[in-house]
Amino acid sequence: MNLSLPREGIDVYHSASQRARVGTEAWGAANFFCPSCDSPKLDSAPRGTPAIDYVCPRCTQSFQLKSQSRPFGRRIVDSVYSEMRRAILESRAPNLYVMHYDRTGWSVRTVILIPHFAFALSCIERRSPLTATARRAGWIGCNILLSQIPDDARIPVIASGLVRPASAVRGDYLRLRPLENFKAEARGWTLDVLHAVRSLGRQEFSLADVYARENSLAALHPDNRHIRPKIRQQLQILRDMGLLAFLSPGRYRLL
Ligand SMILES: [Zn+2]
Repeated sequence: MNLSLPREGIDVYHSASQRARVGTEAWGAANFFCPSCDSPKLDSAPRGTPAIDYVCPRCTQSFQLKSQSRPFGRRIVDSVYSEMRRAILESRAPNLYVMHYDRTGWSVRTVILIPHFAFALSCIERRSPLTATARRAGWIGCNILLSQIPDDARIPVIASGLVRPASAVRGDYLRLRPLENFKAEARGWTLDVLHAVRSLGRQEFSLADVYARENSLAALHPDNRHIRPKIRQQLQILRDMGLLAFLSPGRYRLL
């Protein structure tokens, strides 16, 4: 995998952001592969396809690319809030490749893949409407909260210039794939409890440790007043997915 961004055809664009969009999209068309099947290539989506930049020619999975010249922080800017919200609820959000590129060296530094089934409503944040003086006054965008997506679902593809084998990326993707069959609300619970468990920062943990995150889980799911039973149910689902093991009553280990 060549990490240099292509320079062909970008000179006609005057703004740095347009050059970056064209360069990073062209790089993706040459280098991105499908994590869901064994296709080594993705096709560019027809120009103007909303929220989709690539489509797998074998399994028809869709992909979006978000690139930025800054290292990743807590959030990345996405597009229209209402559309992303609806896409998550209807389980048709695209897979997301997120790229950090070096604008000076014109090369790719880091790429992560977020599977489409890893998006829950708790991962997006509504932005303030654009002010009346803006060209698109009243337009409401959203942020994707990277900090709210479990580590398992932020799959490294290129880490600080080092390329992981496609087989490792596909393995990580397939591990979470059972989530594909869950409805958005159920998937949100599973992902939020997984995130809570990962954020404990320990391989082994107790039920009491997860209960200590009860308030933050309640804040993400204000309509549910039975948080503790929900936590226990989700720990079982995570066990059934092979992401953690039950050691003894109330004791667990991440796998
Ligand atoms: Zn595919």
